[in-house]
Amino acid sequence: MRVLIIGAGIGGLSLALMLKARGVTCQIYEAAPRIRELGVGINVLPHAIAELSELGLLARLDEVAIRTRELIYTNRFGQEIWREPRGVEAGYEVPQFSIHRGHLQGVLRDAAWQRLGRSAVTCDHTFRSFVQEEGAVKARFRRAGGARTTIAADILVGCDGIHSAVRRQLYPHEKGFKWNGVLMWRGATAAKTFLDGRTMIVGGGFNNKLVLYPIARGRGGKQLINWVVTYRMGDGSSPPPRREDWNRRGTLRELLPHVARFSTPHVDLVKLVRGAPQFYEYPMADRDPLPRWTHGRVTLLGDAAHPMYPVGSNGASQAILDARCLADALVSAEHGRAALSAYEAERLPKTAEIVRNNRQGGPEGVIDEVERRAPDGFSDIDEVLSHAQREAIVKGYAQLAGFAKEQVNRSKPARKRHPSSARAGAARTLRSR
Ligand SMILES: Cc1cc2nc3c(=O)[nH]c(=O)nc-3n(C[C@H](O)[C@H](O)[C@H](O)COP(=O)(O)OP(=O)(O)OC[C@H]3O[C@@H](n4cnc5c(N)ncnc54)[C@H](O)[C@@H]3O)c2cc1C
Repeated sequence: MRVLIIGAGIGGLSLALMLKARGVTCQIYEAAPRIRELGVGINVLPHAIAELSELGLLARLDEVAIRTRELIYTNRFGQEIWREPRGVEAGYEVPQFSIHRGHLQGVLRDAAWQRLGRSAVTCDHTFRSFVQEEGAVKARFRRAGGARTTIAADILVGCDGIHSAVRRQLYPHEKGFKWNGVLMWRGATAAKTFLDGRTMIVGGGFNNKLVLYPIARGRGGKQLINWVVTYRMGDGSSPPPRREDWNRRGTLRELLPHVARFSTPHVDLVKLVRGAPQFYEYPMADRDPLPRWTHGRVTLLGDAAHPMYPVGSNGASQAILDARCLADALVSAEHGRAALSAYEAERLPKTAEIVRNNRQGGPEGVIDEVERRAPDGFSDIDEVLSHAQREAIVKGYAQLAGFAKEQVNRSKPARKRHPSSARAGAARTLRSR
């Protein structure tokens, strides 16, 4: 069986590594001229780290990421609402990582180059369309100079992100993104470590949120601190001011008034955002869950299948879980199309539920509710929202997204690790950065 993967992002590269580990031949085609380590910080939750650990990538991730130890929810004045240990400190067998998205992509890319060969990842091939014929699917690509190529395979997987062209061909009449009226600014600044250097803070409420967490070690007591500031500028009934683009630059003029709404004893926020070499603006948008991802020999994975609001740290994590499920299905089903159906039956309902829950705020619903009840702060959080009520919101989301401790620790990895290849990949990424 030959699998054609469209897109060398987090989902596409994870899938390629998992297929390789199972002896399935695959090839990735990526639109970008080369895989550059783009983006800012993301969190990858223990259920997804368990999969990357099984691929032998834990040591490499430890070199470039931070093991998140604790998560603190606060209001916009920095008053604590909820605090919980994360990752190993919370009893998981594997950590939660806060990581630069580009570094995660780099770790996956290096492992793919090493295990599948450099020729398995072909850049400068923008997917345009596919045709399904008896016994094969053929994908058409366009190169930067205008040249066209057609590649045939048994299975095609669209891992081509939020603006998926594969999805567009499957659903040409699908309406655009659903924007909830929230704009986000995201950046990463080399700054003094705060608290223990492994803590994530999520503060604010429904209208303005602040997220802070370190994503990499730095020199002289500094770390690379990832920050996100959000602002609800409407109810989402009109389109966002600018199209969803992960690389769109933001401006201090627009951002600083929103930063001024927050205070935290741990970080000088204005200095932090001013210190970022560049930062990005992004509208919080998703799409309605699809009725089907699979059409014959073609299916979708990751953001192409289920773009979701980036709350609750699930974008990359769910793409990795999709990849694991699809790789398992492709080795165990009698034929490829049956595998795609089994994959969809397992993953579509779960991810659709997360998309819907994220629209309600996901675990961050806890700070939304406190802000609604006590917009000017509180003297006793238990009088605003009881411990049991706060726990129900936060823990309920963990169950739903499949990363409650019992769920992760009982689903043991089924494949062998590749420690030596992970170490070799490590050396290469450090050199290439
Ligand atoms: C440049 C970039 C920066 C990002 N920054 C952040 C961030 O800072 N924070 C965050 O939470 N999430 C970020 N994301 C999104 C995050 O990576 C995803 O939500 C998540 O990891 C799911 O991964 P995915 O593989 O489904 O999609 P992605 O990781 O988005 O990967 C999709 C890949 O498909 C490629 N592609 C797109 N169209 C085509 C085409 N027609 N033909 C061939 N290839 C194509 C893209 O170039 C990309 O490499 C970013 C994504 C990108 C592409």
